[in-house]
Amino acid sequence: MVQNCLFCKIIAGEIPSQVVYEDDRVFAFKDIAPVAPVHVLLIPKKHISSLEDLSPEDAEIMGHIVVTAAKLAKELGLQKGYRVVSNCKEEGGQTVYHVHFHLIGGRKMQWPPG
Ligand code: 5GP
Repeated sequence: MVQNCLFCKIIAGEIPSQVVYEDDRVFAFKDIAPVAPVHVLLIPKKHISSLEDLSPEDAEIMGHIVVTAAKLAKELGLQKGYRVVSNCKEEGGQTVYHVHFHLIGGRKMQWPPG
């Protein structure tokens, strides 16, 4: 756990969240400001600041998060499709520096994103 990290505090339960799924490596919870009918954030329990900070040993956990996102999408009824996205640093639109994937669905997505 990293001090002053919002998502580390959410994992620890110091800040409440609506938990969707949890195992020993990944934590998934509802986004506080959803941009679609389904908007879940999936994060590693290990603190990694952004995609830029990934190291080779993080490949397994990052793969596990994507597989979990696909499983949750199915369980949440997103059979028509969905988007999984991770914003990296300022130009990518990242605002919380604990790496995360957004699972967004329940409406038609646009491309390219803004
Ligand atoms: P980013 O902008 O870094 O890609 O995504 C951060 C996400 O975290 C945003 O979608 C934002 O709404 C969400 N968020 C920020 N603070 C909180 C919080 O305290 N609780 C929850 N559940 N989501 C949060």
